[in-house]
Amino acid sequence: MQPGLIPPAPGPLRDRYLKERGLESLERADRAFWAVDRLLTGSGLQRPPGIDLLETSDDILRRQIQLRAREEWIELRDGLDPQVLDQIEPLIRRSEIAAVEALNYLEDHELAGRAHAAIHNASVVRSGLYGCPIVFEEGVFWTNCSVRISHWRIGLSAGLTVDFVCSICGDPVEDCDHAMGASYEVIAKARSGRCTVCSEEACEHELGQPYIATARRDARNVTPREISFVSRPRYPLARVYEMTVEIDEQDPAYQFAVRGLADCDACLGPCDGFSSLPRN
Ligand SMILES: [Zn+2]
Ligand SMILES: [Zn+2]
Ligand SMILES: [Zn+2]
Ligand SMILES: [Zn+2]
Repeated sequence: MQPGLIPPAPGPLRDRYLKERGLESLERADRAFWAVDRLLTGSGLQRPPGIDLLETSDDILRRQIQLRAREEWIELRDGLDPQVLDQIEPLIRRSEIAAVEALNYLEDHELAGRAHAAIHNASVVRSGLYGCPIVFEEGVFWTNCSVRISHWRIGLSAGLTVDFVCSICGDPVEDCDHAMGASYEVIAKARSGRCTVCSEEACEHELGQPYIATARRDARNVTPREISFVSRPRYPLARVYEMTVEIDEQDPAYQFAVRGLADCDACLGPCDGFSSLPRN
């Protein structure tokens, strides 16, 4: 979950918050993707086609496209200068993560389609060049494939109880005289392992020195009560980051997967659609 500001409750303010964050994520995704594009174009190598067909319900066609893409990308990877390959990796991963974030913010906005396409565009390059490993752990296959996970439209909602204390004096916010948001001079001290000026565990403030600090509500004694799955989490980025994959023991891929040699191909071809929970 993101620290800091609690995202607004449903309403116009939340719509604006989601749109602003979503656009910002989308721009980050695009910028990183263009940088990758320039590196690939600069290599002068034949480039596998991107995702022309965004979505299909034809499983056989989807499989054919995935297998062909896997082959074409391996060929491109083998021809690429290893230095360029190293330059592309952080950029394409950044683009993919930002695209997933964009969809998490924009799923109810008209720009959702652009965020969706950005996920597929980045994923195909990332998977094509660096794979999408399926991990076998304690009898279960796991994936963190961003295509699979982002198409499972669920989020997490945590029920918590929290005590808020004043960052200046450490008393419960209800009991102190400091005005939240106002500035006070404080002597930097460690309180419950955190700096009284900035509330961080590690910072540059020198203990015993005076500083001007803003009174904030600091969360203390956070007690999780329950975690539930919801379709629209209050924190748009509170999502699942790993999921299990079913591979039938009869499937030829099973033995490869057990040895950690299987890659997910879902991210290499057209979309299989979204699955979701009923709206909360
Ligand atoms: Zn994948
Ligand atoms: Zn206080
Ligand atoms: Zn500090
Ligand atoms: Zn899709």
